[in-house]
This record gives sequence, structure tokens and C-alpha cells, in this order.
Amino acid sequence: MADNKKCAHPSCKCQAKQGSDYCSTFCESAGKSPDIQCGCGHPECASTTKL
Ligand SMILES: [Zn+2]
Ligand SMILES: [Zn+2]
Repeated sequence: MADNKKCAHPSCKCQAKQGSDYCSTFCESAGKSPDIQCGCGHPECASTTKL
């Protein structure tokens, strides 16, 4: 089963981990703060430091 979905963090462009709504613990903590820049460390997000 490929149940891939995007990370629930608004500023994150990664795919969520299996069994989780977020790609990382960072997004899990920052998931309720849409203003914060994603710092999950994944390359896809590292390139979105500017709006
Ligand atoms: Zn991210
Ligand atoms: Zn994420």
C-alpha cells in the first residue's frame, strides 16, 4: 500500500512519513505554526527559504 501524502506542515513540501501526518519531528512540533519556516532539513524545503 502506497499511502503517500504531503506533510501537514503548511510550509513543508516533503512527503509525510508512514503512519504520521508529518515528515519529521520538526514539522510535528511546528505543524501548528504556519508562519514558521520549515526546518525539517530536507533538501526540498531548504531551497524554499525565500517567499
Ligand atoms: Zn519540510
Ligand atoms: Zn514536513
